[in-house]
Amino acid sequence: RAPYLEVSDLRVHFETDDGLVKSVDGLSYSVERGRTLGIVGESGSGKSVSSMAVMGLHTSRSARITGSIRLDGQELVGAEQDDVRRLRGQKMAMIFQDPLSAMHPFYTVGNQIIEAYRIHNRVSKKAARAHAIDMLDRVGIPEPKSRIDAYPHQFSGGMRQRAMIAMALSCDPSLLIADEPTTALDVTVQAQILDLIRDLQQEFDSAVVLITHDLGVVAELADDIVVMYAGRGIEQGSAEAIFNAPEHPYTWGLLGSMPRFDRPPTERLLPIKGTPPSLIRVPSGCAFHPRCEFSGRVRGDACTTERPELLPAGSGTGAHVGHGAACHLPTAERQQVWAQEISPR
Ligand code: SF4
Ligand code: MG
Repeated sequence: RAPYLEVSDLRVHFETDDGLVKSVDGLSYSVERGRTLGIVGESGSGKSVSSMAVMGLHTSRSARITGSIRLDGQELVGAEQDDVRRLRGQKMAMIFQDPLSAMHPFYTVGNQIIEAYRIHNRVSKKAARAHAIDMLDRVGIPEPKSRIDAYPHQFSGGMRQRAMIAMALSCDPSLLIADEPTTALDVTVQAQILDLIRDLQQEFDSAVVLITHDLGVVAELADDIVVMYAGRGIEQGSAEAIFNAPEHPYTWGLLGSMPRFDRPPTERLLPIKGTPPSLIRVPSGCAFHPRCEFSGRVRGDACTTERPELLPAGSGTGAHVGHGAACHLPTAERQQVWAQEISPR
């Protein structure tokens, strides 16, 4: 299948009084309908900013967006605001961590779904209401006929998240961007919402971009994964490649921070040393070098002077097609480090 969304060398820079903030600085990925791409990274890595660019939501004059974003074959970078707004309702929708930020507190949940639906569909209020009830039912809200007239604050966190998904899906989008959709929810509700997204994706045959700092969430849903650091994709590949044969030291760090059920609880969280870099003064060479425990193994000073490109990684056979990593360590050495030092930890 042809990619439904294709992002190439995307850059989103903001002019500020302190200098140019390079929030996204060369990101490429593609996702087909029926597939889920997970974008993972710490906060400030550019994952949300890049998706807001896809949605056409950076309207401030300080934002400079270059590169290419093709949605269903149509170029969005440089397109008219009105065209992007129209596409946003027809072909793509976004759900956020906090449904309250996407919902108006003084309007009923039903009216907000009806409004969203009627912006893009010429239908009567009555038909739109019937559609809204149907959507609430499909996202698993009990007694939708009476719940439709409730206000957002009358819903629990999980129910609000379901209602926001209903709102997003009411226009039958082919691309769904979910930005930390379960971060604010407790574990049981988290699992239910992930199941819901998976079911709806199958039903609507949508392309899904799932943004999260939580590798457990991408492990649940993603077919492919892009790991972001300092505005760039530093490793990408199938979920299988990223979880079973990761080649970037930063990905190793993220996997180390992932809760593992084969470890006692006290050992579960191993945060990566150091803090995410400044996006105004990005470290020279490999942006990860101040935090990387493997830079000493690279010959010469490449880690501090040359920015590594995302190059093919993996064994090059079957499952690892499309696997790439941006690191100066030779791929054979990375595989050896993973197998002998990192994975047994
Ligand atoms: Fe570490 Fe060097 Fe690889 Fe960057 S390029 S991840 S600093 S080894
Ligand atoms: Mg974010």
